[in-house]
Amino acid sequence: MTKPTPLDTLRQWHPEFTALRQDIHAHPEIGFTETRTAAIVAAKLKEYGIEVHTGIGGTGVVGVLRRGNGQASIGIRADMDALPIHEETGKPYSSIVPGVMHACGHDGHTTILLAAARYLAQHGDFNGTVNFIFQPAEEGLGGALAMLKDGLLERFPCNFVYGLHNSPGMALGKFAIRPGPAMASGAFFDITIRGRGAHGALPEMGIDPVLVACHVNTALQSIVSRNVPPAETAVVSVTVIQGGDAYNVIPDSAVLRGTVRTALRSTMELLEAAMRRIAPGVAAGFGATAEVDFRFIFAPLVNDAQATDDIVAAARAVVGEENVSTTNGFIMASEDFSFVMEKAPGAYINLGNVAPGEAGATGVQVHNPGYDFNDEAIPLGAAMFCELTQRKLPKDFA
Ligand SMILES: [Zn+2]
Ligand SMILES: [Zn+2]
Repeated sequence: MTKPTPLDTLRQWHPEFTALRQDIHAHPEIGFTETRTAAIVAAKLKEYGIEVHTGIGGTGVVGVLRRGNGQASIGIRADMDALPIHEETGKPYSSIVPGVMHACGHDGHTTILLAAARYLAQHGDFNGTVNFIFQPAEEGLGGALAMLKDGLLERFPCNFVYGLHNSPGMALGKFAIRPGPAMASGAFFDITIRGRGAHGALPEMGIDPVLVACHVNTALQSIVSRNVPPAETAVVSVTVIQGGDAYNVIPDSAVLRGTVRTALRSTMELLEAAMRRIAPGVAAGFGATAEVDFRFIFAPLVNDAQATDDIVAAARAVVGEENVSTTNGFIMASEDFSFVMEKAPGAYINLGNVAPGEAGATGVQVHNPGYDFNDEAIPLGAAMFCELTQRKLPKDFA
């Protein structure tokens, strides 16, 4: 009799892990408040016989599983946080918390990693150490950085790190990755323009910050077209302009807010420098001032060549050669696991999440109140991580 594959075993556990995913879905928690989720994760890891460390970077949890005497180690990461969105899926296991929902599938990611942890603890055939990293606060709140600051990679050294994200635009049973730069770096900014208020009919008595804000926005749009090398990707979006609240009053101040995305960290640095130069410079031309608050939130996500080969081979072992693409497009959205991948070589792969026949091959996108993670992806994602571990930490490694 041939030994069952990780996928065979994980499929047998499917009802149990579907129930777990739906329970986490019904009880979503915003970044850094994932106490219930973290407690479930810690309890499950302990139940599987895995060494558990809690409270890392706030609500983060790390499970450590060692086999044999191998010195090699890897980290596999899942995110646990939900979003401030009011759920409208109508599912029986919908969020019981008004205004909070798992609209990015992190409930699925957490469940996938728990399923992989159980398999590896009970049936894993490898030599070395696997660190199961359950991260809080991925959604722009700095969970990855918090874990790093708390000594994540010093306390749990990883030669390589891996992660995945569900992709509602891709069919179930498919994986896709982009080697090299794959997801954008992201920053948020606030620019406060200070002029001098006046009667709306007497502009000569004031310095109009609303007019200055318009010119600053226009000038900022020259950064991508005139400063960023055309072969490098970048976006500057001013998404908020606020100033004044009366028809006949020129206000004292106005505020511009928005986001910046780039493919490379160096482009992000160029963009920040340009914004800090242009906004005060334009404002000064009008006799106003501009104060720039620029906050770097996401590092660019860059897939390491070796780590990409590892995760692609593991995915192919689960779903077959033809179902794993290495030509994924560059994604202008961001992912904070990138900060960990700047410290240890890693790879981050997309997992298909669209059920056959659902909404014409593209599902409801993440961050939408109608989005739900597809439970059928749990055994596929988990089996991929099990194959990855057994291949990356082989027993016969000399
Ligand atoms: Zn998200
Ligand atoms: Zn996400």
